[in-house]
Amino acid sequence: MKTPCEANVTSKQCADVLSEQRKQYKGKEFYGVIKHFQDKALVDLNQYFVVDLFEDGSPRNTFWADGRSRDAYLKFGDVVVFDVTYMTNKFKMPFSPFVGVNHHGQSILFGGALLENENEETFQWLFEHFLKCMFNKYPSAIITDQYRAMGMTTCGQSESIHSFFFDEFVNSKTMLNEFVVQYDKAVASRRAVEEDEDFKTMNSKAVLSSVHPIEAKSGDCYTRKIFEDLKKWNLTHETLSKCTEEIKYRVGKVNVDRAHWRLVIFHLKNQVNVTCSFAKFETYGILCKHCLYVMKKRHVQTLPNHYILPRWTLDSRFKVSTCSIGLDEMNNEKQVSALTLWYVRANSNKAIEHAKTSPSKIRKLNSLLVKFLEDGVIQNKPNAPESPSQSSCAGFTQVDMMPQLSIRDPTILINTKGRPKNETRIKSSLEMAKKKRTCSH
Ligand SMILES: [Zn+2]
Repeated sequence: MKTPCEANVTSKQCADVLSEQRKQYKGKEFYGVIKHFQDKALVDLNQYFVVDLFEDGSPRNTFWADGRSRDAYLKFGDVVVFDVTYMTNKFKMPFSPFVGVNHHGQSILFGGALLENENEETFQWLFEHFLKCMFNKYPSAIITDQYRAMGMTTCGQSESIHSFFFDEFVNSKTMLNEFVVQYDKAVASRRAVEEDEDFKTMNSKAVLSSVHPIEAKSGDCYTRKIFEDLKKWNLTHETLSKCTEEIKYRVGKVNVDRAHWRLVIFHLKNQVNVTCSFAKFETYGILCKHCLYVMKKRHVQTLPNHYILPRWTLDSRFKVSTCSIGLDEMNNEKQVSALTLWYVRANSNKAIEHAKTSPSKIRKLNSLLVKFLEDGVIQNKPNAPESPSQSSCAGFTQVDMMPQLSIRDPTILINTKGRPKNETRIKSSLEMAKKKRTCSH
Protein backbone atom coordinates (compact mmCIF):
# COMPACT_ATOMS: atom_id res chain seq x y z
CA MET A 1 0.00 0.00 0.00
CA LYS A 2 1.34 3.41 -0.91
CA THR A 3 1.58 6.15 1.64
CA PRO A 4 0.35 9.58 0.51
CA CYS A 5 3.97 10.68 0.29
CA GLU A 6 5.04 7.90 -2.02
CA ALA A 7 2.09 8.43 -4.30
CA ASN A 8 3.27 11.92 -5.21
CA VAL A 9 6.87 11.03 -5.99
CA THR A 10 7.66 10.71 -9.67
CA SER A 11 10.35 8.43 -11.04
CA LYS A 12 12.25 11.55 -12.13
CA GLN A 13 12.31 12.79 -8.53
CA CYS A 14 13.51 9.40 -7.36
CA ALA A 15 16.31 9.44 -9.89
CA ASP A 16 17.26 12.97 -8.81
CA VAL A 17 17.45 12.00 -5.14
CA LEU A 18 19.53 8.96 -6.03
CA SER A 19 21.87 10.97 -8.20
CA GLU A 20 22.26 13.58 -5.46
CA GLN A 21 23.09 10.83 -2.95
CA ARG A 22 25.59 9.32 -5.35
CA LYS A 23 27.32 12.66 -5.75
CA GLN A 24 27.42 13.07 -1.99
CA TYR A 25 29.20 9.74 -1.53
CA LYS A 26 31.47 9.95 -4.57
CA GLY A 27 34.96 9.07 -3.37
CA LYS A 28 33.54 8.48 0.13
CA GLU A 29 31.72 5.22 -0.38
CA PHE A 30 33.66 3.32 2.23
CA TYR A 31 33.02 6.14 4.66
CA GLY A 32 29.34 5.53 3.90
CA VAL A 33 29.78 1.86 4.77
CA ILE A 34 31.34 2.68 8.13
CA LYS A 35 28.66 5.25 8.87
CA HIS A 36 25.97 2.71 8.01
CA PHE A 37 27.27 0.23 10.58
CA GLN A 38 27.90 2.96 13.11
CA ASP A 39 24.29 4.10 12.84
CA LYS A 40 23.03 0.55 13.07
CA ALA A 41 25.11 -0.13 16.17
CA LEU A 42 23.03 2.48 17.99
CA VAL A 43 19.88 0.43 17.54
CA ASP A 44 21.33 -3.09 17.31
CA LEU A 45 23.67 -3.79 20.20
CA ASN A 46 24.29 -7.30 18.93
CA GLN A 47 25.58 -6.33 15.54
CA TYR A 48 28.97 -7.73 14.57
CA PHE A 49 31.07 -5.69 12.17
CA VAL A 50 34.75 -5.93 11.41
CA VAL A 51 37.03 -4.43 8.76
CA ASP A 52 40.55 -5.23 7.74
CA LEU A 53 42.31 -2.28 6.11
CA PHE A 54 45.24 -1.68 3.84
CA GLU A 55 47.87 0.74 5.05
CA ASP A 56 46.34 3.50 2.97
CA GLY A 57 43.03 3.08 4.79
CA SER A 58 41.17 1.40 1.95
CA PRO A 59 39.13 -1.69 2.78
CA ARG A 60 40.68 -5.09 2.34
CA ASN A 61 37.99 -7.31 3.85
CA THR A 62 34.75 -6.48 5.60
CA PHE A 63 32.44 -8.87 7.41
CA TRP A 64 29.14 -8.16 9.16
CA ALA A 65 26.13 -9.84 10.70
CA ASP A 66 23.28 -8.19 12.57
CA GLY A 67 21.92 -9.37 15.89
CA ARG A 68 18.97 -11.21 14.46
CA SER A 69 21.14 -13.08 11.96
CA ARG A 70 23.41 -14.20 14.78
CA ASP A 71 20.38 -15.39 16.70
CA ALA A 72 19.16 -17.27 13.60
CA TYR A 73 22.56 -18.95 13.29
CA LEU A 74 22.28 -20.31 16.81
CA LYS A 75 19.04 -22.01 15.79
CA PHE A 76 19.66 -22.96 12.19
CA GLY A 77 23.44 -22.90 11.84
CA ASP A 78 23.73 -26.66 11.41
CA VAL A 79 24.23 -26.20 7.69
CA VAL A 80 25.86 -23.18 6.07
CA VAL A 81 26.02 -22.49 2.37
CA PHE A 82 29.00 -20.38 1.50
CA ASP A 83 29.45 -18.84 -1.90
CA VAL A 84 31.48 -16.10 -3.58
CA THR A 85 29.89 -13.85 -6.16
CA TYR A 86 31.15 -11.13 -8.44
CA MET A 87 29.55 -8.19 -10.18
CA THR A 88 27.66 -7.05 -7.12
CA ASN A 89 29.42 -3.71 -6.65
CA LYS A 90 31.35 -1.22 -8.74
CA PHE A 91 34.71 -2.03 -7.11
CA LYS A 92 34.34 -5.66 -8.14
CA MET A 93 35.01 -6.81 -4.59
CA PRO A 94 33.94 -10.45 -4.33
CA PHE A 95 30.88 -10.78 -2.12
CA SER A 96 30.43 -13.78 0.19
CA PRO A 97 27.11 -14.34 1.85
CA PHE A 98 26.68 -16.98 4.55
CA VAL A 99 23.33 -18.61 3.89
CA GLY A 100 21.29 -21.05 5.93
CA VAL A 101 17.93 -22.76 5.87
CA ASN A 102 15.21 -21.88 8.39
CA HIS A 103 12.49 -24.09 9.89
CA HIS A 104 10.31 -23.60 6.80
CA GLY A 105 13.06 -24.67 4.43
CA GLN A 106 13.57 -21.06 3.26
CA SER A 107 16.98 -19.54 2.61
CA ILE A 108 18.13 -17.04 5.21
CA LEU A 109 21.24 -14.85 5.48
CA PHE A 110 23.58 -15.29 8.46
CA GLY A 111 26.06 -12.63 7.39
CA GLY A 112 27.93 -11.08 4.50
CA ALA A 113 31.46 -10.16 3.52
CA LEU A 114 33.12 -8.02 0.90
CA LEU A 115 36.53 -9.47 0.20
CA GLU A 116 39.78 -8.52 -1.45
CA ASN A 117 40.17 -11.83 -3.29
CA GLU A 118 39.64 -15.56 -2.95
CA ASN A 119 43.05 -16.41 -1.49
CA GLU A 120 43.51 -18.79 1.38
CA GLU A 121 44.63 -15.99 3.68
CA THR A 122 41.46 -14.04 2.93
CA PHE A 123 39.21 -17.00 3.69
CA GLN A 124 41.15 -17.68 6.86
CA TRP A 125 40.47 -14.13 8.01
CA LEU A 126 36.83 -14.47 7.05
CA PHE A 127 36.16 -17.79 8.78
CA GLU A 128 37.99 -16.67 11.88
CA HIS A 129 35.65 -13.72 12.17
CA PHE A 130 32.61 -15.70 11.20
CA LEU A 131 33.26 -18.15 14.04
CA LYS A 132 34.06 -15.38 16.48
CA CYS A 133 30.83 -13.68 15.54
CA MET A 134 28.90 -16.94 15.93
CA PHE A 135 30.24 -17.73 19.42
CA ASN A 136 32.62 -20.36 18.04
CA LYS A 137 29.74 -22.64 17.16
CA TYR A 138 30.87 -24.67 14.18
CA PRO A 139 28.31 -25.67 11.59
CA SER A 140 27.93 -29.43 11.01
CA ALA A 141 28.36 -28.87 7.30
CA ILE A 142 29.50 -26.08 5.01
CA ILE A 143 28.31 -26.38 1.44
CA THR A 144 30.27 -24.35 -1.04
CA ASP A 145 28.83 -25.52 -4.31
CA GLN A 146 25.89 -23.52 -5.57
CA TYR A 147 24.23 -26.52 -7.20
CA ARG A 148 24.19 -28.48 -4.01
CA ALA A 149 22.98 -25.37 -2.27
CA MET A 150 19.96 -25.37 -4.53
CA GLY A 151 19.36 -29.11 -3.81
CA MET A 152 19.37 -28.57 -0.07
CA THR A 153 16.11 -26.65 0.08
CA THR A 154 13.59 -29.19 1.15
CA CYS A 155 10.33 -27.97 -0.22
CA GLY A 156 11.01 -28.23 -3.89
CA GLN A 157 11.94 -24.56 -4.10
CA SER A 158 15.22 -24.17 -5.85
CA GLU A 159 15.81 -20.57 -4.94
CA SER A 160 19.41 -19.60 -5.34
CA ILE A 161 21.13 -16.80 -3.52
CA HIS A 162 21.39 -14.96 -6.80
CA SER A 163 17.73 -14.90 -7.60
CA PHE A 164 16.67 -13.49 -4.26
CA PHE A 165 19.59 -11.26 -3.52
CA PHE A 166 21.76 -10.12 -6.35
CA ASP A 167 19.32 -9.79 -9.18
CA GLU A 168 16.82 -7.72 -7.31
CA PHE A 169 18.98 -5.62 -5.02
CA VAL A 170 22.49 -5.07 -6.36
CA ASN A 171 24.38 -4.97 -9.65
CA SER A 172 27.85 -4.28 -11.02
CA LYS A 173 27.33 -0.51 -10.64
CA THR A 174 26.19 -0.55 -7.00
CA MET A 175 28.25 1.79 -4.84
CA LEU A 176 29.67 0.33 -1.61
CA ASN A 177 27.56 2.57 0.62
CA GLU A 178 24.48 1.49 -1.31
CA PHE A 179 25.52 -2.14 -1.17
CA VAL A 180 25.27 -2.44 2.61
CA VAL A 181 21.87 -0.72 2.57
CA GLN A 182 20.65 -3.06 -0.18
CA TYR A 183 21.95 -6.06 1.76
CA ASP A 184 19.77 -5.02 4.69
CA LYS A 185 16.80 -4.66 2.37
CA ALA A 186 17.38 -8.19 1.07
CA VAL A 187 17.58 -9.50 4.63
CA ALA A 188 14.40 -7.62 5.56
CA SER A 189 12.54 -9.09 2.60
CA ARG A 190 13.63 -12.61 3.57
CA ARG A 191 12.44 -11.98 7.12
CA ALA A 192 9.09 -10.77 5.90
CA VAL A 193 8.65 -14.02 3.98
CA GLU A 194 9.65 -16.01 7.06
CA GLU A 195 7.26 -14.11 9.34
CA ASP A 196 4.49 -14.63 6.85
CA GLU A 197 5.12 -18.37 6.94
CA ASP A 198 5.35 -18.36 10.76
CA PHE A 199 1.99 -16.62 10.84
CA LYS A 200 0.44 -19.12 8.45
CA THR A 201 1.79 -22.06 10.45
CA MET A 202 0.50 -20.65 13.72
CA ASN A 203 -2.89 -19.74 12.36
CA SER A 204 -3.74 -22.67 10.16
CA LYS A 205 -4.51 -26.10 11.47
CA ALA A 206 -2.69 -28.58 9.25
CA VAL A 207 -5.08 -29.97 6.66
CA LEU A 208 -4.69 -33.71 6.97
CA SER A 209 -4.89 -35.95 3.96
CA SER A 210 -6.14 -38.73 6.20
CA VAL A 211 -6.66 -39.03 9.91
CA HIS A 212 -3.72 -41.29 10.65
CA PRO A 213 -2.11 -40.36 14.00
CA ILE A 214 1.34 -40.16 12.37
CA GLU A 215 0.09 -37.35 10.19
CA ALA A 216 -1.75 -35.70 13.03
CA LYS A 217 1.48 -35.54 15.03
CA SER A 218 3.60 -34.33 12.13
CA GLY A 219 0.95 -31.67 11.49
CA ASP A 220 1.29 -30.51 15.09
CA CYS A 221 5.07 -30.41 15.26
CA TYR A 222 6.46 -29.59 11.86
CA THR A 223 6.08 -26.19 10.24
CA ARG A 224 3.42 -25.91 7.58
CA LYS A 225 5.73 -26.16 4.56
CA ILE A 226 7.57 -29.16 5.91
CA PHE A 227 4.27 -30.86 6.65
CA GLU A 228 2.87 -30.09 3.19
CA ASP A 229 5.93 -31.77 1.78
CA LEU A 230 5.34 -34.85 3.92
CA LYS A 231 1.73 -35.45 3.08
CA LYS A 232 2.06 -35.69 -0.69
CA TRP A 233 2.08 -39.44 -0.77
CA ASN A 234 0.40 -41.65 -3.31
CA LEU A 235 2.49 -44.73 -2.76
CA THR A 236 2.37 -48.47 -3.00
CA HIS A 237 4.83 -51.25 -2.12
CA GLU A 238 6.02 -54.80 -2.58
CA THR A 239 7.49 -56.92 0.23
CA LEU A 240 10.97 -58.16 -0.67
CA SER A 241 11.93 -60.23 2.37
CA LYS A 242 10.93 -60.89 5.94
CA CYS A 243 12.93 -62.28 8.86
CA THR A 244 12.86 -61.99 12.64
CA GLU A 245 15.02 -58.89 12.58
CA GLU A 246 13.70 -56.85 9.69
CA ILE A 247 11.28 -56.55 6.82
CA LYS A 248 12.45 -55.22 3.47
CA TYR A 249 10.10 -53.36 1.17
CA ARG A 250 10.31 -51.62 -2.13
CA VAL A 251 8.20 -48.47 -2.04
CA GLY A 252 7.30 -46.07 -4.82
CA LYS A 253 4.63 -44.18 -6.68
CA VAL A 254 1.83 -46.20 -8.20
CA ASN A 255 2.45 -45.07 -11.77
CA VAL A 256 6.26 -45.00 -11.68
CA ASP A 257 8.56 -47.79 -12.89
CA ARG A 258 9.64 -50.09 -10.05
CA ALA A 259 13.28 -49.48 -10.92
CA HIS A 260 12.83 -46.03 -9.36
CA TRP A 261 11.23 -47.28 -6.17
CA ARG A 262 13.14 -47.05 -2.90
CA LEU A 263 14.36 -49.82 -0.65
CA VAL A 264 12.90 -49.38 2.83
CA ILE A 265 13.93 -51.53 5.78
CA PHE A 266 11.70 -51.73 8.84
CA HIS A 267 13.79 -52.98 11.78
CA LEU A 268 11.84 -55.11 14.24
CA LYS A 269 13.25 -53.62 17.43
CA ASN A 270 11.64 -52.13 20.48
CA GLN A 271 12.15 -48.62 19.20
CA VAL A 272 10.68 -47.75 15.83
CA ASN A 273 13.54 -47.82 13.36
CA VAL A 274 13.06 -47.47 9.64
CA THR A 275 15.61 -46.63 6.95
CA CYS A 276 15.25 -45.77 3.29
CA SER A 277 17.75 -45.86 0.43
CA PHE A 278 16.87 -42.21 -0.26
CA ALA A 279 18.35 -41.35 3.18
CA LYS A 280 16.30 -38.18 3.53
CA PHE A 281 16.27 -38.32 7.31
CA GLU A 282 20.04 -38.84 7.43
CA THR A 283 20.52 -35.94 4.99
CA TYR A 284 17.83 -33.39 5.89
CA GLY A 285 16.53 -34.56 9.23
CA ILE A 286 13.05 -35.14 7.86
CA LEU A 287 11.52 -38.57 7.36
CA CYS A 288 10.73 -39.32 3.72
CA LYS A 289 7.36 -40.37 2.45
CA HIS A 290 8.60 -43.96 1.91
CA CYS A 291 9.50 -44.37 5.58
CA LEU A 292 6.23 -42.79 6.71
CA TYR A 293 4.33 -45.05 4.33
CA VAL A 294 5.95 -48.14 5.81
CA MET A 295 5.42 -46.91 9.36
CA LYS A 296 1.75 -46.47 8.60
CA LYS A 297 1.63 -49.93 7.06
CA ARG A 298 3.33 -51.42 10.15
CA HIS A 299 0.66 -49.72 12.30
CA VAL A 300 3.09 -47.45 14.08
CA GLN A 301 0.71 -45.32 16.08
CA THR A 302 2.52 -42.03 16.21
CA LEU A 303 5.51 -40.23 14.78
CA PRO A 304 8.33 -41.21 17.17
CA ASN A 305 10.04 -38.28 18.88
CA HIS A 306 13.49 -39.39 17.74
CA TYR A 307 12.37 -38.61 14.19
CA ILE A 308 11.41 -35.03 14.97
CA LEU A 309 14.42 -32.79 14.60
CA PRO A 310 13.76 -29.58 16.55
CA ARG A 311 15.12 -27.35 13.77
CA TRP A 312 12.10 -28.15 11.55
CA THR A 313 9.55 -27.24 14.17
CA LEU A 314 7.96 -23.93 14.99
CA ASP A 315 9.35 -24.28 18.50
CA SER A 316 12.81 -23.87 17.04
CA ARG A 317 12.21 -20.17 16.61
CA PHE A 318 10.07 -19.34 19.57
CA LYS A 319 11.12 -21.69 22.33
CA VAL A 320 12.83 -20.18 25.34
CA SER A 321 16.50 -21.16 25.52
CA THR A 322 17.36 -22.88 28.76
CA CYS A 323 19.37 -25.99 27.93
CA SER A 324 21.94 -24.06 25.93
CA ILE A 325 23.21 -21.99 28.83
CA GLY A 326 26.87 -22.92 29.08
CA LEU A 327 27.13 -23.69 32.78
CA ASP A 328 30.19 -25.85 32.19
CA GLU A 329 32.01 -22.85 30.75
CA MET A 330 31.17 -20.86 33.84
CA ASN A 331 32.65 -23.52 36.11
CA ASN A 332 35.78 -24.08 34.09
CA GLU A 333 36.73 -20.58 33.18
CA LYS A 334 35.23 -18.77 36.14
CA GLN A 335 33.68 -16.43 33.66
CA VAL A 336 30.52 -16.41 31.63
CA SER A 337 30.89 -17.03 27.91
CA ALA A 338 29.60 -14.57 25.34
CA LEU A 339 27.15 -17.22 24.15
CA THR A 340 25.70 -17.64 27.62
CA LEU A 341 25.34 -13.89 27.98
CA TRP A 342 23.63 -13.86 24.62
CA TYR A 343 21.03 -16.39 25.73
CA VAL A 344 20.39 -14.66 29.02
CA ARG A 345 19.94 -11.33 27.28
CA ALA A 346 17.59 -12.94 24.75
CA ASN A 347 15.52 -14.45 27.53
CA SER A 348 15.28 -11.20 29.43
CA ASN A 349 14.12 -9.45 26.25
CA LYS A 350 11.54 -12.18 25.70
CA ALA A 351 10.34 -11.80 29.27
CA ILE A 352 9.84 -8.07 28.76
CA GLU A 353 8.03 -8.67 25.46
CA HIS A 354 5.80 -11.21 27.14
CA ALA A 355 4.95 -9.00 30.10
CA LYS A 356 4.75 -5.57 28.53
CA THR A 357 1.03 -5.57 27.80
CA SER A 358 0.04 -6.56 31.32
CA PRO A 359 0.70 -4.20 34.26
CA SER A 360 0.59 -7.08 36.75
CA LYS A 361 3.05 -9.22 34.79
CA ILE A 362 5.48 -6.37 34.26
CA ARG A 363 5.33 -5.59 38.01
CA LYS A 364 6.06 -9.24 38.78
CA LEU A 365 8.98 -9.31 36.38
CA ASN A 366 10.38 -6.10 37.77
CA SER A 367 10.17 -7.30 41.36
CA LEU A 368 12.03 -10.49 40.37
CA LEU A 369 14.77 -8.41 38.80
CA VAL A 370 14.95 -5.99 41.71
CA LYS A 371 15.23 -8.89 44.16
CA PHE A 372 17.97 -10.49 42.07
CA LEU A 373 19.90 -7.23 41.88
CA GLU A 374 19.57 -6.55 45.61
CA ASP A 375 20.81 -10.08 46.45
CA GLY A 376 23.67 -9.59 44.01
CA VAL A 377 24.77 -6.36 45.64
CA ILE A 378 24.99 -8.01 49.06
CA GLN A 379 26.79 -11.15 47.89
CA ASN A 380 29.16 -9.75 45.31
CA LYS A 381 30.41 -6.54 46.79
CA PRO A 382 34.10 -7.38 46.49
CA ASN A 383 33.82 -8.14 42.76
CA ALA A 384 31.69 -5.24 41.72
CA PRO A 385 31.53 -3.34 39.48
CA GLU A 386 31.42 -5.73 36.55
CA SER A 387 34.16 -5.09 34.02
CA PRO A 388 32.97 -3.25 30.93
CA SER A 389 34.72 -5.75 28.65
CA GLN A 390 32.06 -8.39 29.03
CA SER A 391 29.11 -6.17 28.43
CA SER A 392 30.55 -4.69 25.26
CA CYS A 393 31.95 -7.92 23.97
CA ALA A 394 28.93 -9.79 22.70
CA GLY A 395 27.75 -6.90 20.63
CA PHE A 396 30.98 -5.73 19.07
CA THR A 397 29.93 -2.14 18.99
CA GLN A 398 33.49 -1.01 18.51
CA VAL A 399 32.53 1.13 15.59
CA ASP A 400 32.65 4.00 18.03
CA MET A 401 36.43 3.68 17.73
CA MET A 402 36.24 4.57 14.07
CA PRO A 403 37.00 8.31 14.30
CA GLN A 404 40.63 7.29 14.97
CA LEU A 405 40.91 5.73 11.53
CA SER A 406 41.63 7.42 8.29
CA ILE A 407 39.83 5.54 5.59
CA ARG A 408 39.44 5.77 1.83
CA ASP A 409 37.69 4.01 -1.00
CA PRO A 410 39.26 1.01 -2.71
CA THR A 411 41.12 1.44 -5.95
CA ILE A 412 39.07 0.25 -8.89
CA LEU A 413 40.09 -3.28 -9.97
CA ILE A 414 41.06 -4.06 -6.43
CA ASN A 415 41.79 -7.73 -7.05
CA THR A 416 44.08 -7.39 -10.05
CA LYS A 417 47.56 -5.93 -10.54
CA GLY A 418 46.91 -2.69 -8.66
CA ARG A 419 48.09 -4.05 -5.32
CA PRO A 420 51.59 -4.82 -4.18
CA LYS A 421 51.60 -8.54 -3.44
CA ASN A 422 53.20 -8.47 -0.02
CA GLU A 423 51.63 -5.42 1.46
CA THR A 424 51.64 -5.61 5.23
CA ARG A 425 48.28 -6.03 6.76
CA ILE A 426 47.50 -3.63 9.51
CA LYS A 427 44.95 -4.29 12.16
CA SER A 428 42.05 -1.94 12.04
CA SER A 429 41.14 -0.13 15.21
CA LEU A 430 38.12 -2.40 15.35
CA GLU A 431 40.30 -5.43 15.79
CA MET A 432 42.70 -3.68 18.10
CA ALA A 433 39.86 -2.42 20.21
CA LYS A 434 38.71 -5.96 20.71
CA LYS A 435 42.14 -7.05 21.89
CA LYS A 436 42.45 -4.18 24.32
CA ARG A 437 39.13 -4.99 25.82
CA THR A 438 40.17 -8.62 26.36
CA CYS A 439 37.13 -10.32 25.07
CA SER A 440 35.99 -13.48 26.72
CA HIS A 441 36.17 -15.52 23.53
ZN1 LIG B 1 12.54 -42.67 1.18
